[in-house]
Amino acid sequence: MAASPELALRSLELVARDKACEYPGTACHGEACPLARGFYDRLPAARAAAMQVPLLDKAQVRELALAHQVCPYYLAQELARWVDVLVADYNYYFDQNALLYGLAQTDQWRVAVAVDEAHNLVERARQMYSASLDQFHLQALRRDPPAGLGSALQGLNREWNRLYKDQVAPYQAGEQLPAAFIKALLRVVGLVQELMNRTPQAVDPALLQFFFQALQFVRLSEVFDQHFLFDISVRGAGRKRLATLCLRNVVPAPLVGPRMGAARSVTLFSATLNPRHFYADLLGMPADTAWLEVQSPFVAEQLQVRIVSQVSTRYQHRQASLAPIVELIAGQYREQPGNYLAFFSSFDYLQQVSGLLAERHPGIVQWAQSSGMDEAQRQGFLERFVENGQGVGFAVLGGAFAEGVDLPGTRLIGAFIATLGLPQVNPVNEQLKQRMGALFSSGFDYTYLYPGVRKVIQAAGRVIRGTEDRGMVMLIDDRFAEARIRRMFPTWWAPQDN
Ligand code: SF4
Repeated sequence: MAASPELALRSLELVARDKACEYPGTACHGEACPLARGFYDRLPAARAAAMQVPLLDKAQVRELALAHQVCPYYLAQELARWVDVLVADYNYYFDQNALLYGLAQTDQWRVAVAVDEAHNLVERARQMYSASLDQFHLQALRRDPPAGLGSALQGLNREWNRLYKDQVAPYQAGEQLPAAFIKALLRVVGLVQELMNRTPQAVDPALLQFFFQALQFVRLSEVFDQHFLFDISVRGAGRKRLATLCLRNVVPAPLVGPRMGAARSVTLFSATLNPRHFYADLLGMPADTAWLEVQSPFVAEQLQVRIVSQVSTRYQHRQASLAPIVELIAGQYREQPGNYLAFFSSFDYLQQVSGLLAERHPGIVQWAQSSGMDEAQRQGFLERFVENGQGVGFAVLGGAFAEGVDLPGTRLIGAFIATLGLPQVNPVNEQLKQRMGALFSSGFDYTYLYPGVRKVIQAAGRVIRGTEDRGMVMLIDDRFAEARIRRMFPTWWAPQDN
């Protein structure tokens, strides 16, 4: 379709409150924030000015908001009704209380939803439809309860303790919701709501936070079914034992599917929606969904995909894998010096390989991701990938540098991926596996294999960013040689055994 710049489309970017707020840490009401005070008096002029701007991105909205002394975050929310194209995070349409879904319903919008990087929607939707409550927060509230809440908080704590008094294991999952606990929680939610109406200043941030978490818990309890787990994680000992409760969404399909059904059309974009049945099952896509695989702009000659099946990266083989991986990296680097990324399943594994590489091949420049890097540190890591540079950046698979990172040309000429990317085996994932097995008869594949291999493909995707790029990916693990795993690779790859 030809571009039509003459069409007067208006677009708006919606950003999260903490990214748009001009007075972080301030309460959003007129008594505390100057941009909330008199908001509605100044809104018409701000809106009229915004209507003269076709592209309302974050910077434009901020400029307009400050010129009219209104809050940029709430101005953008108001403008949502006045534009044709909205660019926003998934949660604005798919979350339980989503603004855009709500507007589409009440104002009967005919919406076309385009979901970019749609493979991420499974995990994001699970988060949107899960809730957790930590008893530690309840204890803090009980120490100094607001008037009228003391006995309700006491009652809630009693029911909370009952849930795990006989629990021996630190983690336990169940299929039933405890009715008495939900009732006690509802009572607290109702009383806080009354308090907020009566004396809003009596509701401090800690109570407010607990209230919102409890509200989410209560709401999800209404849709709780076999697509959720109810789990209890206990910590501490004796009288100091505390429990965190979680309503954990496993399969978001019954909640995401109707959202898709309510739109006039939904288009999911991704380079890694494979296997299709996995995404269709988890996202509740209708049976007549049309699938279109667009031919890749890249060709096999651009990317050497080498499978190293003599090495196992399984946990029990880690030690034995360190030296061979170091020699693979050093050998490739010697043969073709340049910038490489090396991905591992954990920081621990990463550090062991990086340490041994430094010891055996001190001439190879290297830098490594560390846990909890802030924005500036992440930027610093990426800036080391200069054009025609030489060095190896160590990173964890599934982390900040494994997806959405663009290092074209000689900024990155290859990647080593020493893991199959399988999520960690832990009690929560084992529960997910069991439930997925019961629902789809492929518990392991749905919980571990498909999400793992997807991460590998995403990481490998960092190497070729344009039709002129050339590069190499080394997939290090014997399981990469299995036919069922190769079937999940992009069709334009031509993997070779090393
Ligand atoms: S009203 Fe806006 S600027 Fe003021 S505290 Fe809230 S989000 Fe921040």
